[in-house]
Amino acid sequence: MLNVGKIEEGYVLDHIEAGQSLELYKHLGLADMDCTVAMIQNAKSSKMGRKDILKVECGIEELNMDVLAVINHNITVNVVKDGEIVEKKELTLPKQIKNVFKCTNPRCITSIEQELPHIFILADEDKGIYRCKYCEEKVGKGDGSKKKNR
Ligand SMILES: [Zn+2]
Repeated sequence: MLNVGKIEEGYVLDHIEAGQSLELYKHLGLADMDCTVAMIQNAKSSKMGRKDILKVECGIEELNMDVLAVINHNITVNVVKDGEIVEKKELTLPKQIKNVFKCTNPRCITSIEQELPHIFILADEDKGIYRCKYCEEKVGKGDGSKKKNR
């Protein structure tokens, strides 16, 4: 594996779909966190063809695992402590997720009533699909393309 600096404590997020690391960066709020991030894009993968890897140096409790699970529950989450991978975390799909993703449907009530929380509910556990609580719009885009690499 390509090594872009070793991290002492934090996460190595592996098997991210190629192109998805920016989305993760945004939704995890990494820009606003006091942490070092290394983003590796389009790395070769025997399993996936191409993949992204995200290394985040931060406190173990600081990353929101629910956000990761909603975006892609197939991501491998390696927990790093004292420079070594000490654990692989299983991502479990939360039943709902609030105020992380915004509904993109312009006709959705959340785009009219600005005060409403953006809530997405787990609609399909097998596929990990989340839908807006109000209008059933899916979270994220391009779900169809995800299958191509697998
Ligand atoms: Zn909606």
